[in-house]
Amino acid sequence: MPSILVINSGSSSLKYQLIDMDSEQTLASGLIERIGEPDGKATHKVGGESFDIELPVPDHTEACRVMRGGFDHHGPSLEASDLIAIGHRVVHGGARFFEPTVIDRVVKIQIEDLSELAPLHNPGAVQGISAAEQSFPGLPMVAVFDTAFHQTMPAEAYTYAIDYDVAQKYRVRKYGFHGTSHRYVSGAAAEFLGRPLEELKQIVLHLGNGASVCAIDGGRSVETSMGMTPLAGLVMGTRSGDIDASVLFHLARRAGMSIDDLDELLNKRSGLLGMSGFGDSRDVQARAADGDERAQLTASVVAHRLKFYIGAYQALLGGVDVISFTAGIGEHSVEVREAALTGLSGVGIELDHARNAAVGSDISVISTDASPVTVLVVPTNEELEIARQTFKVVSA
Ligand code: ADP
Repeated sequence: MPSILVINSGSSSLKYQLIDMDSEQTLASGLIERIGEPDGKATHKVGGESFDIELPVPDHTEACRVMRGGFDHHGPSLEASDLIAIGHRVVHGGARFFEPTVIDRVVKIQIEDLSELAPLHNPGAVQGISAAEQSFPGLPMVAVFDTAFHQTMPAEAYTYAIDYDVAQKYRVRKYGFHGTSHRYVSGAAAEFLGRPLEELKQIVLHLGNGASVCAIDGGRSVETSMGMTPLAGLVMGTRSGDIDASVLFHLARRAGMSIDDLDELLNKRSGLLGMSGFGDSRDVQARAADGDERAQLTASVVAHRLKFYIGAYQALLGGVDVISFTAGIGEHSVEVREAALTGLSGVGIELDHARNAAVGSDISVISTDASPVTVLVVPTNEELEIARQTFKVVSA
């Protein structure tokens, strides 16, 4: 039973999951937090039990050692699990990486080079890769990129209408993110419906703290709402999503805000948090139900933007067969799904309110039987998708 270890390494945290590739079940998972701070914490979960320890974790090399300690002390044994490779989640693959790639020295340098486009994400991934190389010498490692799935977008979708030479020189274009989730969910939707992926026109709404929509034609991403960075598109927990770029010039001139102030405003103090005071969708919904006007406005802005993208992507695809909701909000918020889909029967989307309210933890249909467009809720599983892709690359 070969297994794959999936590592999602950020600048101060490292998440991992060991997945058995025969059953596709998670054998163990864990999280090491506050790397580089005096009060680190590690959690290792196996067989329904959770083991926590608090200890300083000065760097990613130590984090990998702590991870190995979790397996050694609490199981399962990595040797007995026939660990054959490690799959690393990497946020930005730029225009260079369009598929999962075996990591060697050159690939690592290229991922590092792309830190220019993803300064908050790629450096952490490179640290995780280097640390894993030390901890598991000789084991094949594969990088799976959040951007890769969107490399099939046509030029008219990814080109920004700015000076061509400036765009080329600074690699300014739409890349898109959440690709691993969009790929997994669109595949799971096709399988659930028993229809070939190649024949389906799909819209996937990944609604978590970060949120994006993807238009998928025959299994290929043709448009997505995030851009050169994950700031564009939908309203998110703390990010604004789409905004007139001149707002930034206006605030710089009139409010004296610096580039860093504006970056913080749009990435950390906007979205649900900025509008309502609450960054968690559950709080926004609860306040809105209690009559809080700002929470109600926030919920309306979220729903308006979702409808806007659903309509736009229907037009780009020339019709849609299936729409899937996924991630924290997409899978769990009855209210957000309801608000996004209300009033869309004119474009073939008919929500079944009782089905929407009854969604459990499995993949479910929430449209009526007569609805021309099928609407699903599909739990995402990015770790499994990374493991599958890693397995495919190392088995080839
Ligand atoms: P991340 O992008 O950090 O992975 P998640 O996919 O975990 O985010 O989604 C986080 C969001 O999901 C939060 O806004 C939270 O309110 C929402 N969420 C989680 N559980 C529920 C629930 N039971 N009902 C409504 N919203 C939920």
